Amino acid sequence: MHSDPSPESPTGQAPEPVPAPGLPGAPGVPGGHSLQVAVSDTLKRGTPGRVPFSVEFMPPRDDAAEARLWSAAEAFHDLGASFVSVTYGAGGSSRQRTERVAGKLARKPLTTLLHMTLVGHTGEEIRAILREFASLGLTNLLALRGDPPGDPLGEWQGIEGGLVHAIDLIRLIRSLPECADFDIGIASFPEGHYRAASLEDDTRHTVEKLRAGASYSITQMFFNVEHYLRLRDRLAAFDPVDGAKPVIPGLMPITSLRSVRRQVELSGCELPREMEDLFTRVAAGDERKNAAAIRKVGIEVTTRMAERLIAEGAPDLHFMTMNNVRATQEVLHNLGMAPAYGPGLGQDAVR
Ligand SMILES: Cc1cc2nc3c(=O)[nH]c(=O)nc-3n(C[C@H](O)[C@H](O)[C@H](O)COP(=O)(O)OP(=O)(O)OC[C@H]3O[C@@H](n4cnc5c(N)ncnc54)[C@H](O)[C@@H]3O)c2cc1C
Repeated sequence: MHSDPSPESPTGQAPEPVPAPGLPGAPGVPGGHSLQVAVSDTLKRGTPGRVPFSVEFMPPRDDAAEARLWSAAEAFHDLGASFVSVTYGAGGSSRQRTERVAGKLARKPLTTLLHMTLVGHTGEEIRAILREFASLGLTNLLALRGDPPGDPLGEWQGIEGGLVHAIDLIRLIRSLPECADFDIGIASFPEGHYRAASLEDDTRHTVEKLRAGASYSITQMFFNVEHYLRLRDRLAAFDPVDGAKPVIPGLMPITSLRSVRRQVELSGCELPREMEDLFTRVAAGDERKNAAAIRKVGIEVTTRMAERLIAEGAPDLHFMTMNNVRATQEVLHNLGMAPAYGPGLGQDAVR
């Protein structure tokens, strides 16, 4: 693993972070890293009539995409995103880029949440990675088991000396003095994790992770808000203290039927019948020809979901952007939380 000198610092010395308006500024500390605001603190910052929002990025695949990621991250910063998260590539394929991107984001005044998985690592390796995160100032971590490489819905394949469940990662983090100030989030599953023996089992395991030291969860994406509400109720009913910690809904702005079908296939989440019927009607037998109409309806559907979530008191809207900036901004605009998307922002996709 390597830590990467920022391109703005040819000497290899990280630049002083520049406080920017809008987002909680992060004061510089020796070594040039930012002191990150805890994600769980950003959830307490809602102002009346405005729910915080955050965005998830995937690590870009190449340098050009990475450059576009910076402008996207800055755009969301200017729109007031409370934090950005960076996913951790399955099988470790994009691990180094994830770490590099997250490290650079954290040096900008952006609260950065780094996803961390157990895939392909021994406990020793994970310990070393966590210490490196601490030295980079990456104190916001989403503790995950990770998708089995090659088949996200497949059987978990552990490795010798590795950890088995996300709770093991939480316990490890809590045992390391260097990571004492880490703010830990976890995944939660509105329809239950696809490998869980039962919803009750899944609820128990989720609450156990919250009890072990996680302070909030971010849900898998869903297309039926009822599933989110039932999850929140289940967790709070199981444990009125730890189970009542914030549950951040994960929302994917819908831009095409292909992406919806892909997500349903990858995560096993439900596409409600009435939504499927609506899209089928708009597609009118020719998805290609009616792509613009499908996209328009998709953004409207996502907006309605977001409105309902806000009305139900969601603590943050976490947009799984699929690195698609434009769609998220359009939803935010519909919600009155952002100006209309303009050509100044550049590309639609940053991949
Ligand atoms: C918001 C979000 C972000 C994600 N980001 C990424 C990413 O960046 N990279 C990536 O590879 N994947 C990512 N994932 C996918 C996630 O890693 C997978 O869904 C994985 O299969 C489950 O992860 P977990 O952390 O919930 O695992 P765990 O908590 O280990 O749960 C896995 C299964 O085991 C059960 N279980 C949990 N604890 C125990 C226990 N102590 N004993 C017995 N059974 C138990 C659970 O009920 C569940 O069925 C993300 C998921 C979400 C919701």
